[in-house]
Amino acid sequence: MTEFTPEINQFVAELDAAVEAHMDWTRRVLRCTVLQVAPGDDVMAPDAHTLCRFGGWFRSQRDHFEALDSLSTQRIEAVHQAMHDAIREICGNVLAGRPGRMTDLQAFELAQGELLALLARFKTLVLAHAARHDALTGLPLRHGLEHDFGQLRKEAARAGLRLYVVMIDIDRFKRVNDTWGHPVGDTVLRHLADTLRQCVRGNEPLYRFGGEEFLVLAQCRTVEAAGQTAERIVSAVRAAPAPLPDGGMLPLTVTAGLAEAAEGETLTAVIGRADAALYQGKQAGRDRWVIAGH
Ligand code: GH3
Ligand code: MG
Ligand code: MG
Repeated sequence: MTEFTPEINQFVAELDAAVEAHMDWTRRVLRCTVLQVAPGDDVMAPDAHTLCRFGGWFRSQRDHFEALDSLSTQRIEAVHQAMHDAIREICGNVLAGRPGRMTDLQAFELAQGELLALLARFKTLVLAHAARHDALTGLPLRHGLEHDFGQLRKEAARAGLRLYVVMIDIDRFKRVNDTWGHPVGDTVLRHLADTLRQCVRGNEPLYRFGGEEFLVLAQCRTVEAAGQTAERIVSAVRAAPAPLPDGGMLPLTVTAGLAEAAEGETLTAVIGRADAALYQGKQAGRDRWVIAGH
């Protein structure tokens, strides 16, 4: 089963709680309408949509929602407000002894239906995003690699560039675990992932490929440029030792193997050649990069 980060579990639990709070609010409104008693500020105030529990939670999480889907985030805001506006009208009429209007009731039902559907969609989005990302480092896992490889290969061809698969493997990582224990090993992995994240460019997707292996897709104009990309990665890791629990710094190195995707070559085949180049780099003494020949 997929293991999610505590942040994701908390977000989903809060989303469920906010939906439940909204249903409580609806039940309260119904009781007040039927029994003809004033329902309170989070129903009658002009800014009721900012006073209800769901509204407060949504505002606090807005950035998170925006990052996932900006248009739907704005839609949630709009339908939530529309729902409150309709309910305020209905309650105002009923409490004044008049019947509520059908148009308000329909507006409320439509808005509530859309709000709940949007929230369910966000929950799916959050969980799908979490399943595609590594809980330890936050990097994408290899699931999307095949698709991204296909896309980037087309982009590179259109721009007259070559597409390289760069396999990166931490040197002597077993020793880190053996010396410092697995939890410190995990911290070191996270640190290394951050170093890599900072040194790759915006158009160079980075993945946690396996245990202590990472993969970068790099578009380069020449084989020399590919070498410079690899050198940038290897030297960034060398320049960024990992902090240890005893206050010391642990020097880290990686070995990288590169292979250019030949026309029509499968991702598996390119990865196989990048892996073989990586193995050569390990044999030659590690802390270096090697480019595979065709
Ligand atoms: P080499 O330079 O030849 O790559 O040596 P190495 O020790 O890095 O390679 P080896 O394949 O022998 O060991 C890799 C180690 O990485 C063994 C495994 O326990 C560790 N590892 C893999 N995934 C994780 C992880 O998620 N957390 C921790 N702490 N260790 C991991
Ligand atoms: Mg390895
Ligand atoms: Mg290794």
